Amino acid sequence: MIIGLDDTDSRDGMCTTYLMAVLIGKLNAFGHLKDYPLLVRLNPNIKYKTRGNAALAIDVELNDQNDAQNVMELVIHTVERMAFFSEENTNPGIVFVENSTQSMKNDLSGFSMRAVRDVLEIREAKEILSRHDIAHRGFKNERGLIGALAAAGFALCGLPDHTYELIAYREPKSWGSLREIDSGSVFAADAATRPDTWDTVDIENERIVFAPHSPDPILFGIRGNSEEAVRRAFSIIRSEPVERHVVFKTNQNTDMHLIKAKIQKVKEDRSYILEGSVSKPPKTTTGGHIIFEISENGTSIECAAFEPTKGFRRIIRELRAGDEVKVFGSVKDRTLNLEKIRIDRLNIQELRNPVCCDKRMKSMGKEQGYRCEKCGAVKKEQVTETLQRNILPGFYEVPPCARRHLSKPLVRFLKS
Ligand code: ATP
Repeated sequence: MIIGLDDTDSRDGMCTTYLMAVLIGKLNAFGHLKDYPLLVRLNPNIKYKTRGNAALAIDVELNDQNDAQNVMELVIHTVERMAFFSEENTNPGIVFVENSTQSMKNDLSGFSMRAVRDVLEIREAKEILSRHDIAHRGFKNERGLIGALAAAGFALCGLPDHTYELIAYREPKSWGSLREIDSGSVFAADAATRPDTWDTVDIENERIVFAPHSPDPILFGIRGNSEEAVRRAFSIIRSEPVERHVVFKTNQNTDMHLIKAKIQKVKEDRSYILEGSVSKPPKTTTGGHIIFEISENGTSIECAAFEPTKGFRRIIRELRAGDEVKVFGSVKDRTLNLEKIRIDRLNIQELRNPVCCDKRMKSMGKEQGYRCEKCGAVKKEQVTETLQRNILPGFYEVPPCARRHLSKPLVRFLKS
């Protein structure tokens, strides 16, 4: 039986991964998990999300098929007891997939991928549930059925690429208090296991980035390429007592959210890989955000490296008109929020006003030519000059402190 779960938490507490961790403990009495529990990240631009738009699924091999009803009741009861129903934006969903068919698999594989890349309606989830007679339970407006069904779909059909995350949970008495984690041991764990683990610390910004600051039950999460790597890092970290921990299989850090597209096809709230050449050079706006524009066949889009992307902005500031780039990120308000950039070709030539008497000549107006302010000489055209560039072509990414869950770090490109 595949059990999918979503939308049980609020910003004030709880976390669907914790609810799933508790459920896994309870379900031990009824059977065993056929694979790792799945932690999937869905479209990062969904306005209803609490934090990272996570949804969960497990595939349980029941010891006795006659227990199916009891298991469903146990899951529903656990959600009723633990979910944050008082929060307006918490609308839990649970699905139970028992007998799968090829046509169910076909529907679910498409639906699950769209939940990561597109914006879905609750109606679409309910149509699939009823078409395939999938047992489910939705609470309040039932929006959680979208994520629960998508996660169950990935458990059924598999993930095209995956990583692992070991999540350690706090003892309930510590929830809401400051997390006690020995930072030296975290840096040591990172040094001992990188590049098989990543995003535990941010070396350039001298920060630990694997622990949240919210009042939820998570102590920290270690991301990596294998169960062995995340467990090795875990064994090195010293901290307050861990109540329980779970190793999840996940689509985090796989770039699954990114759609390769032409700029003219871009829609709001989706994430893309776009190609183009820089048509407006970077400018810094209030708050330290850097904005530039790229164009392709006459259509253009603004790209932004926001202040939290820290040192990444040093690279972006160096872009010049004519540079050919590939940009990776989510589109909101017609602006692509950069997660990575690949600079394919740097423009090393630029049209400048001619020099005369050791100074640039002044333009006399559109198509009027250029005049030297000192000697009065006049020239008709601008001249092509070679630009001195301070960056190299290549792949650049935001630092770990600004990485989105789904974004694939460059260390993973080197591996694959
Ligand atoms: P949690 O830890 O509880 O999962 P979260 O940040 O992951 O918190 P949710 O509370 O799950 O966010 O809220 C996201 C809501 O949006 C869920 O109800 C989910 O079903 C729904 N949702 C997820 N992806 C999509 C999508 N692509 N289109 C429409 N709705 C979606």
